[in-house]
Formats: sequence, structure tokens, C-alpha cells
Amino acid sequence: MSSSVALRLPSIDGLLRHPACAPLAERYGRDSLLTGLRQLLDELRPGVVSGQLAAVEIGPEVLAGRVGERLAQQQRSQVRRVFNLTGTVLHTNLGRALLPEEAIEAVQMAARYPLNLEFDLGSGKRGDRDDLIEGLIRELTGAEAVTVVNNNAAAVLLTLNSLGARKEGIISRGELIEIGGAFRIPDIMARAGVRLHEVGTTNRTHARDYQAAIGPRSGLIMRVHASNYSIEGFTARVPTAELAELAHAHGLPLLEDLGSGSLLDLTRWGLPAEPTVRQALLDGADIVTFSGDKLLGGPQAGLIVGRRELIAKIKKNPLKRALRVDKLTLAALEAVLGLYRDPDRLAERLPSLRLLTRPQAEIHAQALRLQPLLADVLGEVWQVSAVEALGMIGSGSQPVARLPSAALCCRPQVSKRWRGRYLLNLEAALRGLPIPVLGRIGDDALWLDLRQLDDEPGWLAQLAQLQVDR
Ligand SMILES: *Cc1c(COP(=O)(O)O)cnc(C)c1O
Repeated sequence: MSSSVALRLPSIDGLLRHPACAPLAERYGRDSLLTGLRQLLDELRPGVVSGQLAAVEIGPEVLAGRVGERLAQQQRSQVRRVFNLTGTVLHTNLGRALLPEEAIEAVQMAARYPLNLEFDLGSGKRGDRDDLIEGLIRELTGAEAVTVVNNNAAAVLLTLNSLGARKEGIISRGELIEIGGAFRIPDIMARAGVRLHEVGTTNRTHARDYQAAIGPRSGLIMRVHASNYSIEGFTARVPTAELAELAHAHGLPLLEDLGSGSLLDLTRWGLPAEPTVRQALLDGADIVTFSGDKLLGGPQAGLIVGRRELIAKIKKNPLKRALRVDKLTLAALEAVLGLYRDPDRLAERLPSLRLLTRPQAEIHAQALRLQPLLADVLGEVWQVSAVEALGMIGSGSQPVARLPSAALCCRPQVSKRWRGRYLLNLEAALRGLPIPVLGRIGDDALWLDLRQLDDEPGWLAQLAQLQVDR
């Protein structure tokens, strides 16, 4: 009988005047509320017309509640903090290096006030933004000059284009690499207008291979750090010093793309050896390029260092203007570089180095401390154990080296055919926390590597909210 009475949606005007909507207008603004209500009513209309919705589902309080949730969701920032418990310290998808406090303060200053970005306070004349860090870079690397761009990919592109356009770039076949995100050396060379002249083989390239390639069309010799892969076994590579000698004998510049490019010898902290920028320059590389946010531990940037006249040529390239860094990056970079002047305290002050050098025993003790708490929240279905684990540096540094670490290892105690689903549900639940927790699935378990769990209280505080679907 009552089914013949057509249900009607409340009017927009009526809803706007309803007391349940008043606080929403106050909080999010009338326009946002109006848009939200319109969208919601449009979505509900078909259900009302077809009679699938009941009256209680379209009452003003219910609608106000739903719009409120939606507006809250929209207001929440899309850029979200996460817990990186993947075991990869310099994780490209999770923002790589974390900045030290000194750099955070510098960024705040640069964000808040006018600054001498391109203004020479000594002479009162126009300045050059690269000058702000040139002194530090020269001191730390021995380079004659420097220029900074948006990232190392930009540094490689700009350098190749400035020094080798319309000429041949000679490079070993073993170094024609692809780094994540569609950065491939042959493609970058092509975009830079440099003709690729590959020499040698994937595993072995000799000085005579380079020698044979040098001719009237040669513009430069390039060397690229293999970064994310390693060639083992029957290999041969020409040392940088020998390659530099060969290049210079023919009047060619040698470029070395170091990728991570460490400023200091990492073995002093027990980490695997990475070539340093200073050593590459000492060996005779004319230009060295490296990232700001990999092992350096700073903001995203690409540093180009080396011989003064070549840097001058690079800076004159109009592309430089398109690839330059902003003031926030420069402020952060200067602060990070400043910390390198006191290597003895670097591991305390630079977060990436502090995390990379955290002792396994300390991480394991943390895992033991957290294990019962996580086990309690997850309940009987899950076996949670504090175990040793192997992490990695990330961002192409030492692809085969592993960092001895410790993890919480969560194994579902269900038959094999259900395990995958349980693991994915746990992974999703962790990702759904207010501060998403990111681990990794492997070997029928979900691993939370604790090397980077600095904020233990923050992590624990949200644990009670973990709700895993079955
Ligand atoms: C990482 C890397 C790049 C790219 O550096 P970004 O700073 O990520 O742009 C280029 N070359 C090598 C060898 C690298 O390892």
C-alpha cells in the first residue's frame, strides 16, 4: 500500500538550512558544501526513482553525515606521511632521503622570507644561485666549479647536450643502463642530441675498444655507474684514470655519471664502498654528476661538478634555465652539505646515514619489544616473530649489498590456499592506517623491517586501530 507513495529527495535549499548542515558550511565553506550535496543527491537519485532506497537513507541527518565524511576526505592532504618499513632505506617511491633538522630549518627560512637567491650581498649586484653552494662543493669534492639542477637525470641530460650535441658520445655497452622511471642512457643521449657510439661488450670493455672508437666525430667519453645491477664473473672495465688519460690525449672530456655519488668513503661507517666524487675527479673525470637525495642525504637535486670552463659552458645552455633548482632545494642542500664539514658527527646528524648505520642489535631489540604488541592486535591467526632480516640501501647504491636488519615477520596460520589473501588483507589494513605502514610480502609472510622505525610511539599509537579483514 505505502509503496505507491513516491519517495522524494530533500531539496538542496532545505538541506542547506538544516541544522545538521550548518557546522559543515562553517567548516568547509558554503560552496564546497553545496557542491558536495549536489553530487550526493545526483548519485542517490536513481536509487530513489527505482525505489531501492528507503526513507531513512535519505533523511537530512544521514545526508549531512555522508557529505561531511566526503568533505573531510577531500580536505585531507593527498601528500601523506607513511612509515617506510620496506627495508629499502633510500626508497625512490617513498621520497628517498629524509632531511636533517638543519635543512628543515633552512627550508622554512627560505619559504618564509625573501632571500639572496640571485643577489650578491657583497657587491649589491645580481648574483648566481649556484654561487650559494659552490664554495662548499669545492671544499668537499675538490671540484673547480659546480652547477645544480632539478635531479641527476636532468644533470646528465644537460651535460650531454652542452658538451656533446651533434657529436658522438662513446660509452661501454656494459653501461647502457636503464634506471627506474624510464631513464635509459641511450634514450637520454638521443634526447640530448648526442650520437651514441657504444663500445666493448656487456661484460668486458677494454681501453683498446675506446681507442678504436675515437675519431673526428667524437665529442666525449661517458662512464655510467651501473647502479641497480651488477655484472659478476668474467668482466673487464677500464679504470677511470686510464680512461681519462685516453680521453685527454684526444682532447675529449670524460663525463662520469656516479648516480648516488657519495661525498665520503662509506666504509668508515661499515657500509659497502661507493665511489666518491672526489676520487672520480682525482682520477681525471672532467665532469661528475650525482643525485642530491640518494647517498648524499639531501633534497632532490642533480649536482654537476668539475672543470671550470666546462661548467661555464653547461651554465650557458638555455636548458639550464629550464632545469634549475628552486630556493627551497638550495637552502636544504646548503644545510646538508654543511654537515659534511664535520664527518665525525655526520652519522648522528644526517638521517639517511644514521638509518643506514643503525646497528642490527638495536633494531632486533626493537623488534623484540614490539613483537608481543603486534601479536596481540593481530590475534591468533597470525604468528608474529622478531627475526633477522636483510634490507638494502636503495636508489641504485650497491644493488647486491644487503643491510643486516631485523623485522617483525607476520605469518598467517591458515592453509596454503588462503595465505595469499590473508597477506594482502593485512597489507591493505596496514596501508589503511592514519599513517600508512608499508612493509613487504615475501616467503609467505609480511615483513616489517624496523630499521627505519624512528617514531615508535607514533607507530604504536595507531596500532589499536588495525582491523584486518578475513
Ligand atoms: C639514480 C641515477 C640517475 C638518476 O638520478 P635522479 O636524481 O633520480 O634523477 C642517473 N644516473 C644514475 C647512474 C643513477 O643511479
